[in-house]
Amino acid sequence: MTIHVDYLVLGLGGMGSSALYHLARRGLNVLGIEQFGVAHDRGSSHGETRIIRKAYFEHPNYIPLLERAYELWRELEQASGKLLFNPCGLMVAGPPDGQVIRGVYEAARLYDVAVEKVSSEDAVERFPGFQIPHDFEVTYESEAGLLYVEECVRTHIECAIEQGAQVCLDEKIHSVSIHDDSIEVTTDVQEYSASAVIVTAGAWSSTYLQDLNLPLEVVRKLLFWNPVKQPVYDLDAGRGGFFFDMPYGEFYGFPSLDGETLKLAEHTGGETVVDPGNLNRDLLETDMHSISRFISEVMSELESMPTRHGTCMYTRTPDGHFIIDRHALNHRVVYGAGFSGHGFKFASVIGEILADLVTQGTTKHPINFLSASRFSSA
Ligand SMILES: Cc1cc2nc3c(=O)[nH]c(=O)nc-3n(C[C@H](O)[C@H](O)[C@H](O)COP(=O)(O)OP(=O)(O)OC[C@H]3O[C@@H](n4cnc5c(N)ncnc54)[C@H](O)[C@@H]3O)c2cc1C
Repeated sequence: MTIHVDYLVLGLGGMGSSALYHLARRGLNVLGIEQFGVAHDRGSSHGETRIIRKAYFEHPNYIPLLERAYELWRELEQASGKLLFNPCGLMVAGPPDGQVIRGVYEAARLYDVAVEKVSSEDAVERFPGFQIPHDFEVTYESEAGLLYVEECVRTHIECAIEQGAQVCLDEKIHSVSIHDDSIEVTTDVQEYSASAVIVTAGAWSSTYLQDLNLPLEVVRKLLFWNPVKQPVYDLDAGRGGFFFDMPYGEFYGFPSLDGETLKLAEHTGGETVVDPGNLNRDLLETDMHSISRFISEVMSELESMPTRHGTCMYTRTPDGHFIIDRHALNHRVVYGAGFSGHGFKFASVIGEILADLVTQGTTKHPINFLSASRFSSA
């Protein structure tokens, strides 16, 4: 027997959980399908924390979306009573003429984001445990912070269910067939038909959007939890996140949440993943090279060997910007893909945008710069 619903959401990770919530809160008949459990660790939305910030060096066009994302995370906190966001602040350090520092200032100037320039003397005092290269510029954004990533996904799904959404977990989608008046989805459990569908399949997106030939590359990324030697990086002591633009890569991390370990990672690099369902989750010796160098040069109060690691995937586009659009062959299908390792902070507003696109065909949010048409083959 085929189950019919008005809207299907395919994939309930960071973006899908939010889309499900936004459709449900509008009182719509929506069902979400996820191959694993809620807030699982086999996609791209796990590992305790995600940075959220407004001085968006990647492109200032993201800032209006960020304003709304902040608002929606706050609303979700209020609706659920859960703590999702911690405004612990963010230090950014890099060469003054580098893309990151220039981008931070440009974003701050264009959108009046509060960004403070920190002198090297002040930086020593304010950011103990960091040896910041003497020719670097340092900025501090007090409105930045961290999101508790699994709690965000879980809360979106729980609140969606409260609003009437149906959720099918541990159910793998096998095929999606797009017809003129409906979309048929087959899983390993059931067949579904829907009037419209949102595809939020993360690293698996290309499988369900094959006709579009989107230029997506999935890469393997490591997260490290290293022991701290001295309590200089603690969240409880008022420390925040950090992002360094080093000559050999970009590195970021979070304050120590437990006073014992601190999570950090390299944003750049990562080898291509052919099959996201078969990711190598072991810690390889080569995984440690650049992060060890970063720790030894910049973080003297952190042990060089992690006691824990996690593996995750970035789904990158050639320009590093997201793709949010309606399917070129059938507007009943909308999708969000290619979040290029910086999408989570936007999940709250992306869900709203996808819900707009699938119900109204348009959104008031300024997303033209994220359209698939910028890639000629899409
Ligand atoms: C290590 C790391 C650090 C990051 N740090 C930051 C950060 O600090 N700040 C930030 O903003 N962003 C960050 N990001 C990026 C951000 O986390 C991602 O852009 C975002 O989580 C992607 O969400 P998604 O919904 O596209 O993918 P996912 O959350 O992976 O969701 C896709 C879902 O689709 C499901 N699915 C796929 N195929 C099927 C199928 N056949 N059947 C059923 N279900 C299916 C998957 O199981 C998965 O749950 C980071 C990413 C990583 C990997």
